[in-house]
Amino acid sequence: MKVIIVGAGLGGLACAIACRRENLRVIVLERSAEAREVGAGIQIPPNGARVLEQLGALPKLIEAGAIVQHVDFRRYDDGRILSSMPFGDGVIEEFGVPWIIIHREDFYRVLLDEATHLGAEVRQNAEVVDVDFEGPEVVLSSGERIAGDVIVGADGLYSRVRDLVLGTPTSPEETGDLAYRATFRKEQLEAIDDPHVTELCQKMAITSWLGPDKHSIFYPVRGGKEFNLVLLRPDNLEKGIRRVQGDVEEMRESYVGWDQTLEKLISCIPSVTKWKLATLPELQTWTVGPVALLGDACHPTLPYQAQGAAMAVEDGFAIGKLLGLTQKNFLESHAGDDPSMSTREAAKNTVPAVLEIYERIRKARTTRGVRAAMMNRKVFHIPDGIIQRIRDFIVSYAGVTRRSDWTWLFSWRMRQVLYHDLAGNCERAFEAYRRSLDQE
Ligand SMILES: Cc1cc2nc3c(=O)[nH]c(=O)nc-3n(C[C@H](O)[C@H](O)[C@H](O)COP(=O)(O)OP(=O)(O)OC[C@H]3O[C@@H](n4cnc5c(N)ncnc54)[C@H](O)[C@@H]3O)c2cc1C
Repeated sequence: MKVIIVGAGLGGLACAIACRRENLRVIVLERSAEAREVGAGIQIPPNGARVLEQLGALPKLIEAGAIVQHVDFRRYDDGRILSSMPFGDGVIEEFGVPWIIIHREDFYRVLLDEATHLGAEVRQNAEVVDVDFEGPEVVLSSGERIAGDVIVGADGLYSRVRDLVLGTPTSPEETGDLAYRATFRKEQLEAIDDPHVTELCQKMAITSWLGPDKHSIFYPVRGGKEFNLVLLRPDNLEKGIRRVQGDVEEMRESYVGWDQTLEKLISCIPSVTKWKLATLPELQTWTVGPVALLGDACHPTLPYQAQGAAMAVEDGFAIGKLLGLTQKNFLESHAGDDPSMSTREAAKNTVPAVLEIYERIRKARTTRGVRAAMMNRKVFHIPDGIIQRIRDFIVSYAGVTRRSDWTWLFSWRMRQVLYHDLAGNCERAFEAYRRSLDQE
């Protein structure tokens, strides 16, 4: 079977690795000329790390990134620690894998190297403009047509494949929030010569300041040689604008009155990008015939639960696993039983049903993920007042692991997100499908 993946983002590359591990032929078509992610950090929570472990990429990701030891929530105005949750060994004990922080470029490079090493063909400068669902084949902007058995639209928030799957143009909805994203080098922070900044930089920790209408996240990447700061605030960009070079003065003014340590961090950002945060209403369908969507193309989320890429990677894994099972159980034997039937014809008969299984097992989980991130916005951005104080009090007792959580509810909720037997889910759903065919 040949799988065409549109988009070499984190989801598309994870899908390429998963498909190659199942011995499927893979071609990844990427619009941009250069192979790289934006220069910023990203968290890989345990559900993402588990899938990446099964794909064989976890050791390299840990080497390129770092294991989070603490997550600290602070009050926005005085910087008081509301909660310092131990992550490190506790997370590994509870979920079997660590919570990782990594530079996006390094995450991307590990996945790209792994995909190409396993034999996936990755083509840059290859923009897909159309899909022929019958072929199936994709049409590039150059006019070239590429045929396969399955097409995966991993082309992100402003997906072209999604429009073709739904048969109508879709535009993401603005959430009302935007993100300033910046990275800086350790020397820049050392130059501030402030004991609080130095203390912060020595920790392998994620620090989050929670304030009315805004919050911010800071953590080290590249072994503490660089640092990532994301500032989230109400959107003041014009409608339709996706990303611009931000105004540093405006950014600084937005955080006047916040913890002085954060203000000092912000003061050494020389330039910043400003990203509009958009999502989509829940899609009716992610698959039509042999074409399926994954990641931000079908369930973009506010980045308030650090789950967007993790969910995209999970999607990619599920597609690879299910298609691998299809190849083993149907295509090899079908084409073998009936010599008149080519693998391509056998694939045409089975792939649409298998992609529907993919959609079914992924949709409920990703929808919960997207909603939870929306809910986190409400919780993180509570205005000053009694409700905010109650939130602070609850946060001070919350932990991600059962052992560290005094509220019980928080770790229970996080366990639904962070501990997920995706491979088992795929195998069980596929087996049920196979048995249903036997009974027909
Ligand atoms: C501020 C911020 C912080 C975040 N933090 C985290 C975090 O800590 N943890 C986490 O898990 N997630 C996080 N996310 C979310 C995460 O970045 C995304 O969910 C994830 O990168 C989506 O991956 P994707 O592969 O689906 O799409 P993308 O990364 O958007 O990749 C799509 C690819 O398709 C290509 N493409 C587009 N159209 C075409 C075409 N027509 N033909 C060919 N190629 C095409 C694009 O060039 C791109 O390379 C964050 C997001 C933001 C904005």
